[in-house]
Amino acid sequence: MAKLDIVTFPDPVLKAPCSKIEGVNEELLRLAEDMVETMYQAPGVGLAANQVGVSRQLIVIDASSPQEPVQTVVLVNPRIIALSDEKETDEEGCLSVPDMKAEVERAVRVTVLAKNLKGEDLKIEAQGFLARVLQHEIDHLNATLIIDRIGRLKRERYVKQRKQALAGKKSSVSG
Ligand code: ZN
Repeated sequence: MAKLDIVTFPDPVLKAPCSKIEGVNEELLRLAEDMVETMYQAPGVGLAANQVGVSRQLIVIDASSPQEPVQTVVLVNPRIIALSDEKETDEEGCLSVPDMKAEVERAVRVTVLAKNLKGEDLKIEAQGFLARVLQHEIDHLNATLIIDRIGRLKRERYVKQRKQALAGKKSSVSG
């Protein structure tokens, strides 16, 4: 297994919808393993393939609490088929959106269809934190980031800060 580099905003791969996976092969299995390792090392509770620069519909999640045993979930071509009307707002961060905590409104319950790495069909009915993480990661596959789910002014402020931070990093390297 290998730890992968996580791409960050404004890398264009994060703003391109991911393509559907047609079959599971060795390469995909390796990618999934590497994404799981990268997620745990970050540490994060989920990772989408485009966050490591691969524009394909693959996500990995572990939404268990620190007291629970690990619960690694790997989903191929996940899609949301139902969202509850009941919504909840909570703070989210994203490994690809540094220095940002956003209050994001999500459905409390979600139903997701996907395949596992054996190619079997899965139907996941989740609520609470797992439902939130599923929505966050599936958002990634559809090129949506947490900064797309907050107000315009907050988003513009973040984009400006991020540009300044990146410009500062470059000049300190060259200088
Ligand atoms: Zn994210």
